[in-house]
Amino acid sequence: MDFFRPTSLIDALKLKSAHPLALCINGGTDVMVELNFDRKRPETLLDLSAVTELNQWSQAGESIVLGAGVSYSRIQAELATELPGLAMASRTVGSLQIRNRGGVGGNLGSASPAGDAHPALLATGATVNVSSIGGNRSIDIHDFFIGPKKSALAPDELITSITIPKARGGQQYSKIGTRNAMVIAVCSFGLAIDATARTVGTGIGSAGPTPLRAADAEAFAASHLDWETGTAPSVELLKEFGALVSAASRPIDDIRGTAAYRRHTLAIISARSLKWAWKSTNEFRSM
Ligand SMILES: Cc1cc2nc3c(=O)[nH]c(=O)nc-3n(C[C@H](O)[C@H](O)[C@H](O)COP(=O)(O)OP(=O)(O)OC[C@H]3O[C@@H](n4cnc5c(N)ncnc54)[C@H](O)[C@@H]3O)c2cc1C
Repeated sequence: MDFFRPTSLIDALKLKSAHPLALCINGGTDVMVELNFDRKRPETLLDLSAVTELNQWSQAGESIVLGAGVSYSRIQAELATELPGLAMASRTVGSLQIRNRGGVGGNLGSASPAGDAHPALLATGATVNVSSIGGNRSIDIHDFFIGPKKSALAPDELITSITIPKARGGQQYSKIGTRNAMVIAVCSFGLAIDATARTVGTGIGSAGPTPLRAADAEAFAASHLDWETGTAPSVELLKEFGALVSAASRPIDDIRGTAAYRRHTLAIISARSLKWAWKSTNEFRSM
């Protein structure tokens, strides 16, 4: 097996162009599982963990540009104010050791329907920035997931960063699992309220072939929340929102849970998320 460890993005892109079948590895928390279980036997490994450009984040006006290799631990420690939903999701990933190694670039690279970063990115309307030696392009997160564990990334492309709008309202992330750590989501839900644009964003995890958005629930909440006075949403409103989120899911029965259980819990966690996120939207407004 050939092993390359570039330290600059340009060298990484040149290597990926020369070896399009090279398997990228960053934190290795997905890749090493594949290798250890002999599910993948790549001829070439391209280690991106030393590429400086991928390991930093920056401010860009109203957004954060998050390098693909920034770990979950750093997101929790450094970006909880700007990206509260993603920081909450990061807190639920694996264990401390996994959060120190793994990051959003790897989560997107694996494109699992259960990836914890995905609902938070969908809810905020993030953009995935990818590059090849031929140029750069930005992919709307809503177009990124094209099938189970399949993404819009081309073989010669690398994920360089993710542009995520800074919070302009309450955000939440909830995950159903058999325990509080080291668990793949039975289902999950991310929510981001934008008090300036008066919009509500959603993301559903582990309840469909890809991470999903609940577009009808978003439109319903945006048109029924009391943006003028900030009055708490009624029980009926929360219930209808939950029902619309549940209806947008496309779950299956599997080893982690039944489709019926996923639909039921999604309705509950999404209604709670809206209630809590609305409360912090009001706190946000009064700051
Ligand atoms: C014990 C354990 C617990 C876990 N718990 C969770 C959990 O709770 N929630 C969760 O979502 N995940 C979990 N995972 C999975 C994993 O930690 C995450 O998916 C993590 O985000 C992967 O990041 P990484 O940097 O380690 O990716 P890697 O393993 O390095 O890579 C993952 C995939 O992305 C590709 N890739 C990496 N970087 C790039 C790039 N810059 N451009 C293009 N492709 C790239 C790789 O080729 C590979 O296909 C767990 C894993 C383990 C082993």
